[in-house]
Parts: sequence; structure tokens; C-alpha cells
Amino acid sequence: MIKQMLYAKTPNELLTLLKNNQGAQIVGGCTGNEDFPKKAVSIKQIKDFNHITRHERFLTVGPGVTLNQLLSLGQNHLPQILYEALLSIANPIIRNMATIGGNILSSGQKHTLYAPLMALDAKLDFKTSSESYSESILSFKSVAQGSILTAIRIPLLDSDLSIFRRIGPDQGISELSASFAFLAKIEKNSLLSVRLTFAGPFTFHSKEFENSLVGKRLPLSQKDVSQICEDAANAFNKTATDKMISDVMKQQFFNLTRYSFEQLT
Ligand SMILES: Cc1cc2nc3c(=O)[nH]c(=O)nc-3n(C[C@H](O)[C@H](O)[C@H](O)COP(=O)(O)OP(=O)(O)OC[C@H]3O[C@@H](n4cnc5c(N)ncnc54)[C@H](O)[C@@H]3O)c2cc1C
Repeated sequence: MIKQMLYAKTPNELLTLLKNNQGAQIVGGCTGNEDFPKKAVSIKQIKDFNHITRHERFLTVGPGVTLNQLLSLGQNHLPQILYEALLSIANPIIRNMATIGGNILSSGQKHTLYAPLMALDAKLDFKTSSESYSESILSFKSVAQGSILTAIRIPLLDSDLSIFRRIGPDQGISELSASFAFLAKIEKNSLLSVRLTFAGPFTFHSKEFENSLVGKRLPLSQKDVSQICEDAANAFNKTATDKMISDVMKQQFFNLTRYSFEQLT
């Protein structure tokens, strides 16, 4: 249980508080079912961390922005896949406190927004006491020592087909939870791009698989779908080797992959 809450007013103050308080952990809305440390640092008072800036092609979102703040942009101003994922989380009271930073950086099982943010190729901006740097969520593993997340940049991708599904319980996060995301862009009867992502006990995304589909003629035949699903399963199984995943969850991923490509037949 948190015994002492510290409040940072600027990113630099946050870095200093973390440096001077060994073991202190950043918290957002404290709605995660984490084992919180005795000492925590709130980012609620850091102005830059609590607002959304809309650019022409992407959104810059502070890590302290709540899920409701994002939803309040409205369906027409958010990628559909993200909008659906946000709406699927908990209830309006929790979403009023829960932050996007907490959703991305919760430990253990990946949370609901992770697969959609991977499909959108969101970028994570970090800062240390001496530099700022950026990393794609697709390659992100964990926050480096001495770094803090300062923003999430979310591309406003315009997709022709957008599919988000939760795997596991409808509410909350457990070891049975995962999220699935699929985006496709079509141009003149052929596939321009495909994004297929999964996040739960581990994350899955294969650039090689996605690239193999670029230029594929549409509509897909049943034979095409079977071949594509086999390729996707091979890529997924490769990533899943030595990972803890139930046969049921694996099968759900395969079923959702088939369902997604069948929408292109
Ligand atoms: C009833 C209920 C239902 C829920 N349903 C869902 C659901 O369906 N899907 C889902 O994804 N989640 C769900 N959650 C979990 C949680 O509400 C969300 O994941 C939420 O987005 C977590 O954000 P938070 O700000 O509350 O994180 P916190 O609880 O404050 O933090 C969670 C973890 O992230 C770390 N953290 C938070 N912010 C930062 C930061 N800026 N930098 C570094 N580390 C940070 C904290 O140290 C902690 O380890 C549910 C929770 C409840 C209580």
C-alpha cells in the first residue's frame, strides 16, 4: 500500500524525485491491480503530461491523460481501433482515473490498449536528465533506468478495415486477457498495407508477414485466406516458442486472424 505520495510539477522535478527516493514508483490513476510501493510519485500536477495535442497526422498524448480524456475527443477524431479499445475498458468511473501511461506501463500481462497502439505504430517519447529519445512501441521492452515516459505519439491512421477484439474476460485484466488488432488499407483492388498485432502474455507482430501481403489482389480467395492464415500461424508460433500461452488463447488468435482476412474475400 502507498504510504507516501510525492507530487512532481515538472518532468525534471519527477526525475529528481525518482533519483532521490530509491524504490519510488510513478503512478497515474492507481486503478491498476499492481503491488504499489510504499513511496509513489504522482504525475497529476505535471501540466505537459496531462494534455493532448492534435497534429495533422498524429496525436501527442501525455502519459497522465486519462482514458476518458482521450474518449472525449470523439469517435471521429481517434483511430477507430483505439476508440473501440478505450470504450471496452472498465467503466466511466475507472476511465476517469485510469491513464494511458499506466495502461502501457503496467507490469505483467499487457493491457487492452497495447495491441491497438502497436497496430498504429505509436511512438513512445522518453527523457533522462541529459537527453530525450523516442522508441516505437513495436520494439519497446521496458523503461530504461533513469528514463521517464513523457509522451505517446499516436498516428491518425486512416484504415479501410479496422478490427479490435478482447481475448479473455470482458472486464478487467487477468492472465487470460489479451488484445487483438487488425488494420488494412486498400488501394485499387489490392492490399496497400496490413497490421496484425497481439498483446497479452507477450506481444506479437511480424513485419515480414505483413510485408508479404503488400500488393495482394483483392478480393482474397478462400485458398489465399488459408495460405495467409498458415503463414500467420507459423510466425505467431515462432514468437510463442518458450512463452506461456494457453491453447485456448492461441486458438482465439488464429480464429480472429481468419475472421479478419475473411473480411477481405
Ligand atoms: C474494475 C477495473 C476494471 C479494469 N478493466 C481493465 C480493462 O478492461 N483493460 C485494461 O487494460 N485495464 C483495466 N483495468 C486496469 C487499469 O484501470 C488500466 O489498465 C489503467 O489504464 C491503468 O492506468 P492507471 O493510471 O490507473 O495506472 P496505475 O494503477 O497508476 O499504474 C499501473 C502501473 O503502471 C505504472 N505507471 C503508471 N503510470 C506510469 C508512468 N507515467 N510512467 C511509468 N510507470 C507508470 C505504475 O507504477 C504501476 O506499476 C481495470 C481496473 C479496474 C479497477
